[in-house]
Order: sequence, then C-alpha cells, then structure tokens
Amino acid sequence: MDIGMLVDTHCHPTDSSVVNLSKSTASMYAICAMSTHIEDQIKVEELHGVHPDVVRPYYGFHPWWSHIYTFTEGIGKKEHYEALFLNGKKEDIKLQQIDALLDALPSPIHFQILLDDVERRLQRNARAQVGEVGIDKVFRVKGKDGKLTLLQTSIEHQKRVAVEQIKLAKKYNRVVSMHSVSATQGSMDIIRDAAYQKIVLHSCGIGKNGIDYCQRQFPGVHIGFSTAINTRSMKVLEDSIAVTRLDRILSESDLPVETEYANAVESIVEIIARVKNKSRSEIVHYIKSNFDKLF
Ligand SMILES: [Zn+2]
Repeated sequence: MDIGMLVDTHCHPTDSSVVNLSKSTASMYAICAMSTHIEDQIKVEELHGVHPDVVRPYYGFHPWWSHIYTFTEGIGKKEHYEALFLNGKKEDIKLQQIDALLDALPSPIHFQILLDDVERRLQRNARAQVGEVGIDKVFRVKGKDGKLTLLQTSIEHQKRVAVEQIKLAKKYNRVVSMHSVSATQGSMDIIRDAAYQKIVLHSCGIGKNGIDYCQRQFPGVHIGFSTAINTRSMKVLEDSIAVTRLDRILSESDLPVETEYANAVESIVEIIARVKNKSRSEIVHYIKSNFDKLF
C-alpha cells in the first residue's frame, strides 16, 4: 500500500513519552491527533506546528475527565462530586467513596473556561477540529489505591459536556471525533441534541443495529474502525463493517505510539477490504475520498 494514501482519523500521539513523528508516519496522507484533557491541548498544538500538513489537530475534552468540570458558578467541591456521582440517589457506599477520595479530587473547573479555550483554538486555526468528546458508560473513577471505585459520572453531565463542545464544532463547521462506549442511545441523543452530523464515531463499537439506526437517522455521520479496539470481537467488527456505507467508512489506529500508525491503518484496511469484497487499494481510495469530503 502507498503510505502517502493512508489516513489515521483517530490517534493519540501526545500520550507517548516522545511527541514527534518519524519520517514514515510524517509521509502518511493525514493523522488526526486527539486532545483529551487540560494538559494535552498544547502538546497537540505543538505537534501540529511541527507537521502542519499531515497532523490535523483536535481540541477537546474526553468523557473520562468530565467529572472535574462544572456548569455551576461557585459550587463547592463536595456538593459538585456528590451531585455528579450520586445523581440524585442516596447510596451509602458511593457516599463513603466520595468522602475518602474528596481531598485527592481537584476543585471543579467551570467548563465555560475550557470551551472558551477550544473556541480560541478553532478561531486561530482553520485546520483545528473538535475531539475527543463523547460518552462512556463503563468508565469508573479510580480510588487512592488505584482500584476502580463505583463512582461514575452521570450520563446527563457527560452528555452536556459533549453537546457543548459539538455546538462549537457546528459554529465553526469543524469535524468532531466522538467516543462512545456502551452508550449507543446516549450517543444518538448527543448527535440529535447538538443537531450536527459532521461527526466521526471513532473505534465504533455500537454494533450493526446501532450503525444501521445511526445511518438512517444521521446520514452525515461517519464511522471509524481500528484494530486496537474493534478486533476485540471479530464477529461484531465484521458485521459492523458489512452494514457501514462505503462513502462513510474511515480507518484509524487509536494508538499512542506513532510508529505503529501506518501498520495499524493497513491492517484495518485489510479487514474492511475482505468484508466488503474489494481490493485494499479500492478501500484506501474510498477512505481517502471520505476524509477529503469531510474537511
Ligand atoms: Zn481516543
């Protein structure tokens, strides 16, 4: 495969210890570098500065950190975390876990500050996009001992954090890379609430029925697949690829180590080619043209 034709629509190069691109990765057609939390937005911006043509910079806030954001001015720390983690229910074990963790949790940050930051980056750079945003029903906060607690951020809060970011993408007509884990309905709600379809469901795990529904409801939404996440169940992946329209399909690595991007994209292209009964170069062309149309 011609490396200059390969597209990685979702990766995390700034999660690696050395943030740069090797020659071969820099010769790919494009890589979409995600931001996820407060510290990595600047790293993505710097990487894009070094490789402005190949790196599409994505700015945004991932649902795994959404519990540290608030929409309420001046809310107390305890009040904030109890509201998000208890979600109106009185559960003693969760209350104990919140109390035990409270001093280690950061004071809540008003999300408007972060939205303003994303907006400035979108205004400054026409190539900037929005991501990684989304919803995750499985994620739980770790305790001081490193073990998972029962604490999960309310779905309503996660949705709001995602929708506010997608509205910014809509305002500036940018692409959104969206994370969705065990929350097919929630993800569809987000797309509907934001009233925007320039969205890529990345490492899409919503299954063939979910994809089928999504394509009927939101024909503009694109579907990305990676071997890193999606080969956990080959059956689900193959069924998902089979129902995904060729003019909406995308390839991604979803990996931190940049030297693996081209190989990872090649291997998902190979699976797509097999399921779609096309040659690998045909699939590469479809993906590249889907990518070009999206931007
Ligand atoms: Zn990701």
